[in-house]
Amino acid sequence: MRLILLGPPGAGKGTQATRLVETFGIPQLSTGDMLRAAVAAGTPIGLKAKAVMESGGLVSDDIVIGIVADRIEEADAKKGFILDGFPRTVAQAEALDVMLKDKGMVLDAVVELEVDQAALVHRIVNRAEEAKAAGQPVRKDDDPEVFKTRLESYNRDTAIVAPYYKGTGKLKKIDGMQQIDAVTAAINAVLGA
Ligand code: AMP
Repeated sequence: MRLILLGPPGAGKGTQATRLVETFGIPQLSTGDMLRAAVAAGTPIGLKAKAVMESGGLVSDDIVIGIVADRIEEADAKKGFILDGFPRTVAQAEALDVMLKDKGMVLDAVVELEVDQAALVHRIVNRAEEAKAAGQPVRKDDDPEVFKTRLESYNRDTAIVAPYYKGTGKLKKIDGMQQIDAVTAAINAVLGA
């Protein structure tokens, strides 16, 4: 199973991806996690990405496409993967098409979580408060002002990614405002799990 999870920041992609990992036994490939790891490790990619991530903008297509191309070559991704946070631009979606074609891989579905953006700011404030209460580090980009910038990036660059897949018959829209379990059930239903 090769899947893309789409939806604005805070839509619940990470939560649902974790569940899909268990259901399908395939890895979650989160470009956000990969970039945060690169920042933490102080790699050249991390050094380039740090400031733009902290401001809520998008890291350059070249960097992100490069890390995904490397990651899907790894052994655990051979039988499938869940892309979380990628593609975020049409250029990334086009590059992914080329990548998959070159590797003889086929995409099974693109799951789009549809959410009310006004509610997202509340969700993200909760996520930051929960992390703080649990003694976990709070993501710098979960600051409400930075979050708004992330939402703007989404609306400017990423909202057009779902329509890119419309003609393929693979795009599955899910109401992401339901309870977490109901969202999971809806995703499993469209994927035939
Ligand atoms: P996320 O964890 O998916 O919300 O990503 C956190 C941040 O990493 C984003 O706000 C971007 O700065 C950067 N990022 C993650 N994935 C991508 C991507 N596919 N293209 C560009 N920037 C990305």
